Amino acid sequence: MGKGIVIVGAGVRSRSRRRNAGSCQPPAAAICLILLAFGILAGCGSGRPDQVDVPTVKVTEPALPPTPLFDPDSAYAFVAAQVAFGPRVPGTKPHVDCGDWMVARLKGSGAEVVEQTGSVTTFSGGRLPLRNIIGSFHPERKERILLFAHWDTRPFADKDDERTNQPIDGANDGGSGVGILLEIARHLAQKEHGPGVDILFTDVEDHGQPSGAMGMDEHSIDTWCLGSQYWVKNPHVPNYKARFGILLDMVGARDAKFYQEALSMQYAPAIVRKVWKTAEALGYGDRFVQETKYFVGIDDHIPVNKTLRIPSIDLIEYDPATQAFGPYWHTHDDNMEVIDPVTLKAVGQTVLEVVWKEN
Ligand SMILES: [Zn+2]
Repeated sequence: MGKGIVIVGAGVRSRSRRRNAGSCQPPAAAICLILLAFGILAGCGSGRPDQVDVPTVKVTEPALPPTPLFDPDSAYAFVAAQVAFGPRVPGTKPHVDCGDWMVARLKGSGAEVVEQTGSVTTFSGGRLPLRNIIGSFHPERKERILLFAHWDTRPFADKDDERTNQPIDGANDGGSGVGILLEIARHLAQKEHGPGVDILFTDVEDHGQPSGAMGMDEHSIDTWCLGSQYWVKNPHVPNYKARFGILLDMVGARDAKFYQEALSMQYAPAIVRKVWKTAEALGYGDRFVQETKYFVGIDDHIPVNKTLRIPSIDLIEYDPATQAFGPYWHTHDDNMEVIDPVTLKAVGQTVLEVVWKEN
């Protein structure tokens, strides 16, 4: 894509990063041609530097195409569709069926899809099948942005008072991040400018050891995020790199607020600021609170920061009342009743805007 050229006054200057001042290499050559056409060329091969009244050339970036509108009803329907499959517990039929549906959705949006299968060992020593799903837009581009969310759901309701051994719906914890990213995916095929985008759906994030369980020790934290731990050791593209990563986890609850998560601030403060500033500019400043809270022990962004060194943030709800996540967290209340399209819109439009503005 070319650059716009504006003549603004005396002197020859350029703000183009790629332009080699003083030579007539493209795109400087193109500028020379335009100036010749105006009969005002100086300092570019033939002119004398002491000439006066030389116009200044300011090369400006072309306007980006407008950011598409994120459709919250579509995102809501994508969350509901996942929940309708049943709890997405690895090794179960709803998990297989929902994974197939997600692959079809990504392909339908124009993504090139890679599925990564394997098996992992859980905290109890059992083996679980693993299926990470990666949808790539413009996979040929070297510059990339990573968007990710886990798609499995908690196999038990260890924070509930009843039916604690039964799996949860995971409408918000699992469903909401995937729903938003599937809606963003619908728009990415139209994005001709800037970096390519990878949407990574991680598996077996939420199979971690219950707090208070027998045998809790310093390794308990490693029992979470098994899919992302697997992916960072075996990225779908060798030496995978991205400009930055945004993880979405519990991003659809009614009235949810998003504080700046402390580990994200530690690893990727510039990305946190970029996202929160964008949200404020879009009018979502009441949802994206510019205050840091330490409330996440582990999430999928940690292995990505630590192992692949991609600056990555966790966009995740913080509830001041619990000083952690919403009260529905890891209970049977994490169902469609907590999901609100207004929240999906605030998060989805913000992330889409951040992605769109990268050039
Ligand atoms: Zn969870």
